[in-house]
Amino acid sequence: MRRIAVINQKGGVGKTTTTANLGAALAKNGLRVLLIDLDPQGHLTLHFGAELRDGQPSVYDVLTAATPVGDVLVKVRDRMTLVPADIDLAGAEVELISVTGREVILREALDPIEQDYDIMLIDSPPSLGVLTVNALVASTEVLIPLQAHFFALQGLSKLLDTVTLVRQRINPQLHVGGVVLCMYESATRLAGEVVDDLVKFLEASRGTTCAWADARVYQTSIRRNIKLAESCSFGQTVFEYAPRSHGAIDYARLAAEVLGETISTEGVGTPNAVAVSAPSASALAAAAPTPLRVGVG
Ligand code: ATP
Ligand code: MG
Repeated sequence: MRRIAVINQKGGVGKTTTTANLGAALAKNGLRVLLIDLDPQGHLTLHFGAELRDGQPSVYDVLTAATPVGDVLVKVRDRMTLVPADIDLAGAEVELISVTGREVILREALDPIEQDYDIMLIDSPPSLGVLTVNALVASTEVLIPLQAHFFALQGLSKLLDTVTLVRQRINPQLHVGGVVLCMYESATRLAGEVVDDLVKFLEASRGTTCAWADARVYQTSIRRNIKLAESCSFGQTVFEYAPRSHGAIDYARLAAEVLGETISTEGVGTPNAVAVSAPSASALAAAAPTPLRVGVG
């Protein structure tokens, strides 16, 4: 099972939207997808219309009461299974403070179901506390959704410090797979500048042993698209709610990149068939400010 933590301690950057819709796109590609809601806001759970009933066990019980993860799974769609969360999870941060080995609870809990899924995506809260650390320990890859605004890169360095610490102390396999720009507005100069700075920063670490030495900025940026915001309030993925929207097209393309495949998204609903292949860093540097012109014909 490939294990990806979707992390950014900044709020509202697109973590949950990415986890839900990238997960849905991967399931459409035939993968068995495990989604873990590790945010007390429970937004990922709501995104699939899977609100917890009274007494229904959740990831909170897995972390604090040794409930087997198999007891809390909810099948939300074909090939998509969710470990749900709700506000109870907020208590876990405090309850786990004095628990030895609290950072590895999720990783150990997932072992028995490892074989049942091809890929796992963890949605994290907007903080770098014990829940996020559990996500980082249970994963081998970090996917960072980023919004191109002035302070975006400042926040990134704090996040990368945390990834580095977890990699050094607990999880040597952990590395940053990539950064995906969310709510992207290609027309703005700021967006282009943020991407340029990010590409330069990542380029400077090539060949080193740091956790982001092989990280890339995904060529697919997720455009700002109201259908993405609307779909979650209906408890639907964007592929269900608006399959022809930019949001659906962008997440289908992102899934292709995450899988490292060259696929066509023709049939998703766009008149513009888009072929995506894993980009080189230099191609990204050239293409990133206007990524959506690439390959569209
Ligand atoms: P939090 O840190 O609170 O968990 P988050 O990082 O998970 O937030 P989301 O909940 O995914 O962020 O997105 C924040 C808001 O922006 C939501 O209302 C979501 O529907 C909306 N949104 C996300 N991506 C897009 C997009 N590409 N275009 C338009 N709206 C978007
Ligand atoms: Mg969220």
